[in-house]
Amino acid sequence: MSRVYNFSAGPSVLPESVLKKAAAEMLDYEGSGQSVMEMSHRSKVYDSIIKSAESLLREIMQIPDNYKVLFLQGGASSQFAMVPMNLMTKNKKADYILTGQWATKAFKEAAHYGDAVAVASSKDKTFSYIPKVDKSTFRPDADYVHICMNNTIYGTVYHELPDTGDIPLVADISSCILSKPIDVSKFALLYAGAQKNMAPAGLTVVIVREDFIGNAMDITPTMFNYQTHADNGSMFNTPPCYTIYIAKLVLEWIKNEIGGLEKMQEINEKKAAMLYDFLDNSKLFKGTVVPEDRSLMNVPFVTGDADLDAKFVKEATEAGFVNLKGHRTVGGMRASIYNAMPVEGVEKLVAFMKDFEEKNS
Ligand SMILES: *Cc1c(COP(=O)(O)O)cnc(C)c1O
Repeated sequence: MSRVYNFSAGPSVLPESVLKKAAAEMLDYEGSGQSVMEMSHRSKVYDSIIKSAESLLREIMQIPDNYKVLFLQGGASSQFAMVPMNLMTKNKKADYILTGQWATKAFKEAAHYGDAVAVASSKDKTFSYIPKVDKSTFRPDADYVHICMNNTIYGTVYHELPDTGDIPLVADISSCILSKPIDVSKFALLYAGAQKNMAPAGLTVVIVREDFIGNAMDITPTMFNYQTHADNGSMFNTPPCYTIYIAKLVLEWIKNEIGGLEKMQEINEKKAAMLYDFLDNSKLFKGTVVPEDRSLMNVPFVTGDADLDAKFVKEATEAGFVNLKGHRTVGGMRASIYNAMPVEGVEKLVAFMKDFEEKNS
């Protein structure tokens, strides 16, 4: 068996110890004589899995008691509609900051359900920075402001939250959840597709303050109403059982093997610094994002020559560094260095890049 270093933006690398544990428990989960894939979601044994996944997430992220944690399906993309259907209900206005493709999709979806306005954007420079905003950027009667915290495709992140005054803040944290501590109390709602930094695809986590539940538009489908899932402990219908189980193993890994989110952040900063330091000093490669807004998780870079980019991606793949091709709208390369990418993977990638630079410049 040989495993590659997988720099995919999502679905993405999972901790090896989690995969081993899942393999060991595949045929017989804790003496139940069944795989977690096979068991009833209403069984006692499954109930303890989903409950410990939630309590671990609450503990690790320090989620306050007045927030609900929902385990849903439909991907982060379904939240682009669920958020406005449930939250754009008082004044029917919401303000969106466009920092990339996901934020733009969220904005366009919201515009179907009310008065959504794009109040700031970094599209003018291929989303290579986070636009500066202040309280005056937002409409005082907006029901919420929506941001995409970490921009998976373009490699930018909010190192500081925008000041929205009293306007509730909603964030898509799909590609940065669990990468470092985050003050949940600053948000009305957070959501994340699990397949970037938490689990395989199929699970979407929503963390929502209780007073934002229960005001959905009349047209809201039952399955799109946060109330439905909050009232039923994420068991209104069959939840994505196996994915929630892997999320639980990943959370145990963060708690017991890593030592929590402060430690996770230290490791992530170390990995990102290795790559950015190399890029800043390279004669061949360069990062595409302004230094002050660089993501810890997704690192896009280019050589400036499309043929050389292609050659790099090809040779890297052959050497066991896979999924480094950049998104088609940016070109070049992108290394996604999520929690489960070991430090050693980034060290070896940097060494490979140095070697490629020497041979090609
Ligand atoms: C991947 C991603 C999405 C889309 O997630 P799906 O689960 O595929 O719908 C949305 N937002 C961000 C920031 C992402 O990285």
